[in-house]
Amino acid sequence: MGFYDVYSQYKNIDYHQFYEELTDSDILKIIHKDRPINEIEFLALLSPKAENYLELMAQKAHTLSLQHFGKTVLLYTPMYLSNYCTNKCTYCSFSIDNQIKRKQLTAEEIEKEAKAIASMGFKHLLILTGESKKDTPLSYVIDAVHILKKYFDSIGVEIFPLTVEEYQQMIEAGVDSLTIYQEVYDEEIYRKVHLAGRKRNYHFRLDAPERGCIAKMRNVNIGALLGLGEWRSESFMTGLHANYLQNKYPDVEISVSFPRIRPHVGVFEDIYEVTDQNLVQFMLALRIFLPRVGITISTRERQGFRENLIPLGVTRMSAASSTEVGGHSIEDAGDGQFEIDDKRSLEEVRAAIFKKGYQPIFKDWVRI
Ligand code: SF4
Repeated sequence: MGFYDVYSQYKNIDYHQFYEELTDSDILKIIHKDRPINEIEFLALLSPKAENYLELMAQKAHTLSLQHFGKTVLLYTPMYLSNYCTNKCTYCSFSIDNQIKRKQLTAEEIEKEAKAIASMGFKHLLILTGESKKDTPLSYVIDAVHILKKYFDSIGVEIFPLTVEEYQQMIEAGVDSLTIYQEVYDEEIYRKVHLAGRKRNYHFRLDAPERGCIAKMRNVNIGALLGLGEWRSESFMTGLHANYLQNKYPDVEISVSFPRIRPHVGVFEDIYEVTDQNLVQFMLALRIFLPRVGITISTRERQGFRENLIPLGVTRMSAASSTEVGGHSIEDAGDGQFEIDDKRSLEEVRAAIFKKGYQPIFKDWVRI
């Protein structure tokens, strides 16, 4: 049984009727429950009615976060190796049809970027590529990892989905963490926004986080690109997916990200609005449903908003990000994937975390 069975079990539920039938006392009972809540109770916390209880949910989420994670936030930064892509996704600048400046880092440029990023103090790095097995085959990524592990204690990958054997090769090379977003769980929308390329294969992507777990990645980070589908059902499916992985692979640390669509090259008009309040509700419901899950907030979000989210359960934040290929050190960097919002330096982000009473950390494990 894979996650698709869980998805199928819930995909046809009548959300509207479920929300209609919920009462205030149902919501309060769920928030005050001592033991873990179940899937349906999680959905109740994502309902319009639960919007009236966000303050109470925030208190509970804060307590659970302190209990499981203390007052620390791990800092990492992304590094784009290439923006070549063979897919046609309606919501991304790297889409094959977009006229952007394409670039792929050479071994020397990877080393230069690594030195620039490491000199800021980062120990955790996330490497990204567009999805092109032709331009950035696994061997290219593996060679990059060999260079990067001289400079970083943790290397995560956000690249095209791989087989279990390929994930094992990544781990052997020095990768310990996998980020792979389903983008949108709704199968029909998935088909509409992925017009061409390997990424059209919904199932291969959906099962990729599980293949990463089977290969024994230390950390697997999942998420939906908020805005492609209706946020409540997409949030629900994301939480169910994280729960499925956490229960089946208890030795893997499962994390969830909350990316919202950002301005990019090309026009995508069918965007479902996701407000700050919607994002907060998703985060609170998730923390109450899965108290041990990691929560990542990227620089897509505004600085003040990011800070306010910290006490509600954020465990990892990116900082000093660039979505350009070579954006930290190379003069003729390739075009970026999307615009970032929080453009502060690492020092500024660190200071803001301290100010909130939390400790910014650069490293939370050692490769032995
Ligand atoms: S979202 Fe990924 S696969 Fe789609 S165009 Fe962008 S880089 Fe390529």
